[in-house]
Amino acid sequence: MINDYYRPDTFEQAIALLTDVRKKCKPLGGGTRLSRQQGGEFGVVDLQNVGLDKIKEQGQRIMVGAAARIHSLLEHPDIHTEIKRAIRIDTSENIRNMATLGGWLVSSDARSILSTVLLAVDATLTWKPGEKRIRMGNWLPMRNQEPPGVLMTTVEWWMRPHLVFEYVARSPKDRPILIVAAAQWGSGRTRSALGGYSNTPIIAMDGPDNSGVDVASHDAYFDAEDQWAMADYRREVASKLARRCLDRIDALKESEA
Ligand SMILES: Cc1cc2nc3c(=O)[nH]c(=O)nc-3n(C[C@H](O)[C@H](O)[C@H](O)COP(=O)(O)OP(=O)(O)OC[C@H]3O[C@@H](n4cnc5c(N)ncnc54)[C@H](O)[C@@H]3O)c2cc1C
Repeated sequence: MINDYYRPDTFEQAIALLTDVRKKCKPLGGGTRLSRQQGGEFGVVDLQNVGLDKIKEQGQRIMVGAAARIHSLLEHPDIHTEIKRAIRIDTSENIRNMATLGGWLVSSDARSILSTVLLAVDATLTWKPGEKRIRMGNWLPMRNQEPPGVLMTTVEWWMRPHLVFEYVARSPKDRPILIVAAAQWGSGRTRSALGGYSNTPIIAMDGPDNSGVDVASHDAYFDAEDQWAMADYRREVASKLARRCLDRIDALKESEA
């Protein structure tokens, strides 16, 4: 239950509040998840005035403030169209107007297409205090253990790789039971991520070219069984969706040639 509310005007004040152990504060993004949290008593530090909502380009990378609202990604010209498609599938208009990218990454599960796609483009997170940069693929498995800091400040990723995703849901409005996202860089480096099962998306493959993406997807979800789908269904379809992703990337490259 929230028993204290702070709305600092500067980033430094936010960090001071969050590092004060007596205050037991958590960062408040859009509050769509935190406001429903019942366990224990804690304070919140509202991030809306601390300037962590900017989106900017830096070389080949896009840098998004962790307190940027999800809807602001939809409006930005440098956000990849597949990321925008993922947002539209994952979120209602109300949620995307409220939720922040940082809050989404901290609390979304494996059935989030947005999180799966950002894992495929090798997103990197920066945490404070300090300037701890950690790749999303290294952070996700330990997300519920010790966080790298008190506040995620930036989420950044490569802008230019070809990026596609495919997914299966039991009905058009249902959440996905299987997601395959693939990114391919100009060098040939190919990285694929799977979602739809367990607590977080996972990396299926990160290699110098696209060989073996289908086998890696099959193997990564070898035991992926839960109440929503059998493991043999997930692994067979993951392999097919991975091939479909590669076909789509090849078609994109041909259309650009
Ligand atoms: C109606 C509804 C539908 C949803 N559908 C989906 C869905 O389809 N798929 C899915 O995966 N999830 C879904 N969710 C959950 C969703 O991921 C979260 O509710 C939401 O995105 C959290 O974002 P927020 O900015 O509101 O975070 P908050 O509620 O403000 O915070 C959530 C958590 O993140 C922490 N946090 C926030 N910002 C930061 C930061 N900058 N640094 C460090 N920690 C931070 C908070 O302390 C808290 O622990 C849904 C939620 C709702 C209410």
